[in-house]
Amino acid sequence: MIPSNFDYVAPTTLDDAVAALTEAGEDAKVIAGGQSLMPVLRLRLAAPTVLIDLNRIDELRGVRDDGDALAIGAMTTYYGLLGNPLVSKHALLLADATRTVADPQIRHRGTLGGNLAHADPAGDLSAPVLALEATMTIVGPSGTREVPASEFFVDYFTTALQPDEILREIRIPKHTEWAAHYEKLHRVAQAWSIVAVAATVDVDAGVIKQAKVALTNMAAVPVRARGVEEALIGQDASPESIRAAAEHAAEGVSPLSDGNADAEYRSHLAKVLTRRAVATAIGA
Ligand SMILES: Cc1cc2nc3c(=O)[nH]c(=O)nc-3n(C[C@H](O)[C@H](O)[C@H](O)COP(=O)(O)OP(=O)(O)OC[C@H]3O[C@@H](n4cnc5c(N)ncnc54)[C@H](O)[C@@H]3O)c2cc1C
Repeated sequence: MIPSNFDYVAPTTLDDAVAALTEAGEDAKVIAGGQSLMPVLRLRLAAPTVLIDLNRIDELRGVRDDGDALAIGAMTTYYGLLGNPLVSKHALLLADATRTVADPQIRHRGTLGGNLAHADPAGDLSAPVLALEATMTIVGPSGTREVPASEFFVDYFTTALQPDEILREIRIPKHTEWAAHYEKLHRVAQAWSIVAVAATVDVDAGVIKQAKVALTNMAAVPVRARGVEEALIGQDASPESIRAAAEHAAEGVSPLSDGNADAEYRSHLAKVLTRRAVATAIGA
């Protein structure tokens, strides 16, 4: 199908983009990589009257070393993340998950900010940023505000972003040289996750000092597997400890049931994938 008619603007500064969004009101949409929005427009699931293209705004791209955190521009593409040594060194979990997103064409166009703002429960980058305790920097007509990832994802396809706000930057505290792995179950290559597990662990002399684990597509929003984290900390990095900790993966979660998997199967997957994610991260 062909999208409804819309006006198109392509500002070159963030201030101009915010001004255009404020002026256009609730019927406006920003477009980043277009890899989720274009299908939505073509199916006429959304019919904005104004489309504000963020692709010419250089200040929204790139990865910056900002002391104890990485500051990643919302318009940084998946390829931009994968090719950046700062990301592999300080946020390996994000790099590992990004590798699993869609196919090479989509990875060249899609952006971190677009992925997070779209907030698909099956999106692969929400759980990693939740596990890494990222903070979103959001700009709007009344200025800038910071929202922790734990409060950013509100519901299915819904975030804390207001219609007149733009996600500017994702700040990720450095997890330097933490082991990490994103374990994703999908039916065919390049498909979305049925369930996936994002795990990153800090191991010292064979003992797990810190652990952060989050689950994709178990609920409307990504969730932390706190029971697993608590069970891992202080344990030796052995297959037996990991297997025991992974049994806590679905605790406190009310999993989705849909055409891909029912709640019981999702709970089972969460445990199996958690075990694999942590074991692969550590090499156990
Ligand atoms: C065939 C196919 C397979 C895919 N497989 C996967 C997969 O396996 N895993 C996965 O995670 N994703 C997958 N995707 C989705 C893909 O990753 C998209 O790139 C992503 O969901 C959206 O990013 P985008 O930059 O393309 O954003 P767009 O499509 O441009 O925008 C998406 C939404 O976010 C809003 N938005 C974008 N940027 C901002 C911003 N800076 N501030 C405020 N709002 C903003 C837009 O208004 C829109 O509502 C797939 C897509 C396709 C078409």
